[in-house]
Amino acid sequence: MRIVLANPRGFCAGVRMAIDVVDQVVDVLPDETVYVYHEIVHNRHVVDRLRGKGVKFVETIDAIPEGSVVVFSAHGVSPAVREQARARHLSAVDATCPLVTKVHSRAIRYARQGFQILLVGHKDHQEIIGTMGEAPDRTQVVESPADIPGLTIEDPDKLVYLTQTTLSTDDAAVIIDALKKAFPGIKAPPDEDICYATTNRQHAVRQIAPLCDLVIVVGSQNSSNSVRLTEIAENVGTRGVRIDDVNELDPSWYPKGDETILLTAGASAPEDLVSAICRHFVEKHGATLHLADVFEESVEFGLPLTLKRLMQTHGIDPGDRKVKVEPPVITAGEYGMNAVALTVSAGAKR
Ligand code: SF4
Repeated sequence: MRIVLANPRGFCAGVRMAIDVVDQVVDVLPDETVYVYHEIVHNRHVVDRLRGKGVKFVETIDAIPEGSVVVFSAHGVSPAVREQARARHLSAVDATCPLVTKVHSRAIRYARQGFQILLVGHKDHQEIIGTMGEAPDRTQVVESPADIPGLTIEDPDKLVYLTQTTLSTDDAAVIIDALKKAFPGIKAPPDEDICYATTNRQHAVRQIAPLCDLVIVVGSQNSSNSVRLTEIAENVGTRGVRIDDVNELDPSWYPKGDETILLTAGASAPEDLVSAICRHFVEKHGATLHLADVFEESVEFGLPLTLKRLMQTHGIDPGDRKVKVEPPVITAGEYGMNAVALTVSAGAKR
């Protein structure tokens, strides 16, 4: 059996920053309960670890006692949520990914310029709820081409589309093509809204999956980008399964025992979960590990201003610390890593 580890996989810069923010707020306020509005990132293990440190996750601002500290999750929030937090005199620390904030800024700008915004994404996803909240009267969500006939359009030449950052690039392309066909004058955003981490992880799967018998994606059910990775695998003809951790592996997925399995992880899945799966395959199935480097990422985000202010209020110098995602290096020392004999083409982004 061969386990091929996709690179890039797992934590992106936005997720790393958001988790880091919560850890640091807990360190700054050891005697206070820290509240997080919505799951900080969509991963059960990450949320459980933070719960173990006393962090409370809430789905409504009303559930937070007045005067407390609240962290907004990586997915971003609407202005209405920020206003509710102000009204309850909460100290808000904003862990929204800067790449989500970029889409919010676009929504605000286009709405001010009189555009109607067609927001391509999943209407129940936190990110879409937050972005839509920037200009609710000017925005309509498009989940599929089937939604297009039901749109209310004032001026087909004053339309722009924006997209959720974690969509499947394949699905988004189909929807955007349909929008362009229906509204030839529709404006595109200045650059891609689907983020580098989503694009890169999907690109790696698209390249490597056709050479494998199975694709295993580590990530939680509510992680949009993890679910999209399984869909990308299926799109190129290889079975894709998503699991939260090693305990969800099902041997019926690899009945022969000599399969080639691509292992990857969504942007919110910690590397230690991938590591545990590698260990399982090596120890129980005699698997060899192979690394498929499609391209490297070097993205880093600074700490949010709101966290820096909180730290300064408590006498801590935040300095110019940045959050940086290191390339995954798991198991190389443990079991030896073979360069994978696969041909992959890079279409690299950052
Ligand atoms: S998946 Fe992309 S948009 Fe979402 S947190 Fe990561 S970098 Fe930011």
